[in-house]
Amino acid sequence: MDVGLKGRRALVCAASKGLGLACATSLAREGVAVTITGRTLATLESAAAAILKQTGAQVTIAPGDIATPEGRAAALAACPEPDILVNNAGGPPPGDFRDWQREDWIKALDANMLAPIELIKAVVDGMIGRRFGRIVNITSSAVKSPIPTLGLSNGARSGLTGFLGGLARQVAPNNVTINNLLPGSFLTDRLRSTNAAEARENGRTPEEEMAESTRAIPAGRFGDPSEFGEACVFLCAASSGYIVGQNLLLDGGAFRASFG
Ligand code: NAP
Repeated sequence: MDVGLKGRRALVCAASKGLGLACATSLAREGVAVTITGRTLATLESAAAAILKQTGAQVTIAPGDIATPEGRAAALAACPEPDILVNNAGGPPPGDFRDWQREDWIKALDANMLAPIELIKAVVDGMIGRRFGRIVNITSSAVKSPIPTLGLSNGARSGLTGFLGGLARQVAPNNVTINNLLPGSFLTDRLRSTNAAEARENGRTPEEEMAESTRAIPAGRFGDPSEFGEACVFLCAASSGYIVGQNLLLDGGAFRASFG
């Protein structure tokens, strides 16, 4: 199926690994020219090489920390007029809110709320002018179902979601959509290292730990990042202009609700 994205340009943030890389790869497979960002140059270069090899699409790299003004300036210099913006960054650390200082909150807000808002501010008027734009924000299932130890993530991402719920309705008349993808548990490096640490803590092998963790997921497994990438393509498709301000949960059924 042709999703109508050939020749479009995408800026995909935090995309040298994991879910961001999966989104960039899936978009590249649809003929989108992708610019990917990440802080570690070597990882970013090998990700770009892998995307090129798998898809043959044009891939540009923009090294830098997307949570900083300099990192965002580098990303926008490499891709000044994206048709597609995928917002992503690393998640805040777990902990007890009693231990968090103002700086910890500001750091979480910078990465997981303000960076996406700043990037949207920089590109949305161009999208409106061209009457095409697709903005996808990688948030978390924690927006719908909070994870107590991830309070910084629950708070910062919910702030982003609330703000974008309003903005999505303001830009929709111009065929610019803003939607969020909410990952549950996807088998990325991040999840692998968390799983390995929990296995050590619980005296299990990584395989045993994984079996234990997937027990509560109706699908019976962790998600494959490529599945996440394909959901990103779906939201970006030319025919998805009527999908506005949605929070799409990809969690294998882990969040139990009959509706929404
Ligand atoms: P991952 O496998 O660790 O990949 C993170 C990617 O983001 C790497 O390419 C990393 O490269 C880059 N990155 C991190 N912080 C960055 C920054 N400040 N600026 C630029 N690039 C940055 O993580 P993931 O599992 O794909 O997770 C992606 C996001 O989804 C995170 O916010 C995570 O909390 C959230 N999430 C993931 C899951 C899951 O199951 N995987 C579930 C819920 C939520 P560098 O380190 O080189 O910068």
